[in-house]
Amino acid sequence: MPLLKALDGKKPIKLADHDPDYHNGLIEADAIARADKLLVEMRELQTLMYAAQETAVLVVLQGLDTAGKDGAISHVMTGLNPQSCKVASFKVPTPIEAGHDFLWRIHQHTPQLGCVNIFNRSHYEDVLVTRVHQLVPPKVWKSRYQHIRNFEHLLSDSHTVILKFFIHISKDEQKGRLLEREQDPTKSWKLSVGDWHEREYWDKYQKAYQDAINETAAPHAPWYVVPSNHKWFRNLAIAETIVNALSPYRKGWMKHLEAEGLKAKAELSAMRANEPN
Ligand code: AMP
Ligand code: MG
Repeated sequence: MPLLKALDGKKPIKLADHDPDYHNGLIEADAIARADKLLVEMRELQTLMYAAQETAVLVVLQGLDTAGKDGAISHVMTGLNPQSCKVASFKVPTPIEAGHDFLWRIHQHTPQLGCVNIFNRSHYEDVLVTRVHQLVPPKVWKSRYQHIRNFEHLLSDSHTVILKFFIHISKDEQKGRLLEREQDPTKSWKLSVGDWHEREYWDKYQKAYQDAINETAAPHAPWYVVPSNHKWFRNLAIAETIVNALSPYRKGWMKHLEAEGLKAKAELSAMRANEPN
């Protein structure tokens, strides 16, 4: 049984049913050892995918402040070759970005065939923070669900494997992590008064996330709710989900590479027959 369930939109979910503390009874040392093995497998799969040039991967990471988007990225990156992997972080739109449709800045960062791109925040901010802070009228953010569904359909039809993770922590855990940042000089650069203000909107964010997940989960673009109070469980669960999603492609990629190899060998033989050296 995989650690995370793929939410494909067939049955609406309630975030309250997902316990951020969940760790499947695992202990940290075992989880880290398992994750290490998965990272090796991920690297092998990525190498094949890069060589085959038939498939792309888009990993979307969403979550509230301190949820662990940065931590999840730095963990998963240790299993990826940076040559064919990119991270795009989406902040408050610049005036130029805000002067375009909300998907304009996103589309430029989608992965090309053979590559894995990771989104640290994404187009989902346009149905989350914009909704919670009433930056646009409800009619506007509501209409965006359909635009997102269409956009992700287009990416999927263009051979992109889409994996969307909601990094789920509890309100108490967030408080602990914010206070910890004040004690740790290596983390205090992340401190922001805004993060404490945002806590007042906690329930509104939970509702906005729940709706976004239910509105946009699809078999070709599943959401995964990642219990993330335990960082080691979060890392293991994400690594496992990526490996499980890519493994079914292995045979097809190998077949493609073998066919390419045979073609190249035939060309070499023909060349040698004509010009022996
Ligand atoms: P951080 O990820 O902590 O560096 O913060 C980035 C900030 O940019 C967060 O507060 C996001 O909510 C905000 N942000 C990202 N995308 C959008 C958007 N489309 N509209 C408004 N704010 C955004
Ligand atoms: Mg922040």
